[in-house]
Amino acid sequence: MVRENEIRPGEIAVDPPPATDAGLIFIGRIHTPWTSRLTAPRQGRPDGPLCRIEIFSPWVPALEGVERYPRIEVIYWLHLSRRDLVQQSPANDGTARGTFSLRSPVRPNPIGTAIAHLVRIEDATVFVRGLDCLDGTPLLDLKPDRSLFTPIAPPQRGDFETGDCLR
Ligand code: SAM
Repeated sequence: MVRENEIRPGEIAVDPPPATDAGLIFIGRIHTPWTSRLTAPRQGRPDGPLCRIEIFSPWVPALEGVERYPRIEVIYWLHLSRRDLVQQSPANDGTARGTFSLRSPVRPNPIGTAIAHLVRIEDATVFVRGLDCLDGTPLLDLKPDRSLFTPIAPPQRGDFETGDCLR
């Protein structure tokens, strides 16, 4: 069951510290058919509706090369989410799970990610399928799907390190 903004039985909210300015820049805006959190899909599907990612100036040249990748990771800011729940009850049945064990949009930093299927790029607009966010959702970043991406620079030492971090 999708929430608007309520606290459900079993859920725990905290008083979050004031947000700091991490220096994030919204590089675009995502246009989708969904205008309500109650009707948006919980995860995008490759056969979902065609959505439009508008890239703002001056970031348009950063699209060069994106057309090589049939799948791209879209990273967005779920701007209407509350940010204070540490335990949530997705089924609204009185049982709760930790926020970090969920893909809920409600999180301290409401970042959403989706692997989208690239349809085409026209000037400053990227057309994709596979999104689940509301119309007008701010865009944070685009990256090639990591399973399709091979680093372009030569290998470096850390690529092969296996030691654990125990500090
Ligand atoms: N695919 C992303 C992920 O896994 O990180 C987001 C998944 S989240 C479960 C998707 C839900 O977030 C949608 O069904 C909708 O209820 C909600 N949502 C979508 N866009 C939003 C926005 N801009 N602000 C707040 N909630 C949003």
